Amino acid sequence: MSDSVVLSLAEADSLAREVLEAWGLAPDHAAAVAATMVAGERDGCTSHGLYRLLVATASVEKGVVNPAAVPEVSEPAPALVRVDGKGGFAQLPFSKGLPLLVEKAKAKGIAAMALNNSVHFAALWPEVEALAAEGLVALAFTPNHAWVAPAGGTKPVFGTNPLAFAWPRPGREPFVFDFATTVIARGDIELHRRAGKPVPEDWGYDAQGNPTTDAKSVLDGAMRTFGGHKGSALAAMIELIAGPLIGDMTSAQSIAVDAGRGGSPLGGELIIAIDPAGFLGDRVDEYLAHGETMFAAIEGQGARLPGTRRLAARRESLAKGLAIPAAFHAEILDLLQK
Ligand code: NDP
Repeated sequence: MSDSVVLSLAEADSLAREVLEAWGLAPDHAAAVAATMVAGERDGCTSHGLYRLLVATASVEKGVVNPAAVPEVSEPAPALVRVDGKGGFAQLPFSKGLPLLVEKAKAKGIAAMALNNSVHFAALWPEVEALAAEGLVALAFTPNHAWVAPAGGTKPVFGTNPLAFAWPRPGREPFVFDFATTVIARGDIELHRRAGKPVPEDWGYDAQGNPTTDAKSVLDGAMRTFGGHKGSALAAMIELIAGPLIGDMTSAQSIAVDAGRGGSPLGGELIIAIDPAGFLGDRVDEYLAHGETMFAAIEGQGARLPGTRRLAARRESLAKGLAIPAAFHAEILDLLQK
C-alpha cells in the first residue's frame, strides 16, 4: 500500500468542508475554514494545513468554538469595519468583512477591520494576500494565549503574536511575510517534547523562571520573544492594537477564558489596508517600480525574499496535487465517523 494519498486541491477542499460540516459548521463557515487549510497545505505550510482539521474539530469538541456562528458586520467609523465573529472561527468573519474593508480602503485611502470574538488558529498570510490581490498594502496582527515572557522577565504575558505584511507587485505575486514574534513556533517546541529532544537554552524558561533545555518545561513555563527587547516590544504592540484597541482580549485574558481546556485562542485580530493610490494618485506604477528595485537588490545578491519558498510549494502543488501521508488521510476520514 502506498504511504501517501494524492488529492487535487478541489478534492482536499471538499473533504475538509465535509469534515467541518459533519462537526456542525454551517456551509459558509466550513468553506471559509477549509479554504485556509487547503491554502496552507498547498503552500507547504503544513502546520496550518489539513492537520488543522484535527485542531478545529477538537476545538468544537471542547466547546471552545461556536460552530453555528453567524458573524455580524458593522461600521463603527467611516474607515473602520468591525465583524463580531460570535465565537466562530476567524476565517468566516474575515470573509464576511473583506469586501467592505476593500471598498473603504479604496474610498478613503486607508481602512482597518477588527475581527472580534473569533477563534484563531491559522496563518495570517492568506488574509493579507487577499488584500494585496486587490492592489492594497496590508498588515495583520493577532494575540493568542499568554505563553511568552517579556524581555527581562520570565513569566508569560504575551501570546506568540504573529504579524503579517503584504505588498502588491505589478504583474506578479505580492511580497508577503508572516511570522510569530517568538524565537521559535510553539509547535516546534512540542515536536521536540514528543521526540524527547532538548531545546536550545534561549527558547524559554521553566515555570520557576530558570533557563532550561527541557521542551516540556518551556511549554509549562514561558517562551521567549525573538530579538530580545525588540520582539518583546512588537509583541506588546500586538497585544494592544489587536486587544484593547479593538475592544477585545489580551493573551492573558484569552488563556484565562480558556480555563485549561487547551482550545484554540478566542479573541481579536486587527487588519489594516492601505491603497497606494491614496498617497500616489496616478503615480502608483512609478513608485511601485521603486519597490521592485529594492526586491532586485535583495535577490541580486542571492538573498531570498520571504514567500519564495511558499510560492514554489504552491506551484508544485498546483502541478502535482497534494500528497498526504496515508495514515493522516485515514485520520481525516475517521473524523467523518464522529
Ligand atoms: P517562520 O519563522 O517560519 O517565518 C515565516 C516567514 O518568514 C515566512 O514569510 C517565510 O517565507 C519567511 N522566511 C523564513 N525563512 C526565511 C529566509 N531564510 N529568508 C527569507 N524569508 C524567510 O514563521 P513562524 O513559525 O513564526 O510562523 C509560522 C506561521 O504560524 C505564520 O503563518 C503565522 O501567522 C502562524 N502563527 C499563527 C498564530 C495564531 O495565533 N494564529 C500564532 C503563531 C504563528 P516562506 O514562507 O517563503 O518560507
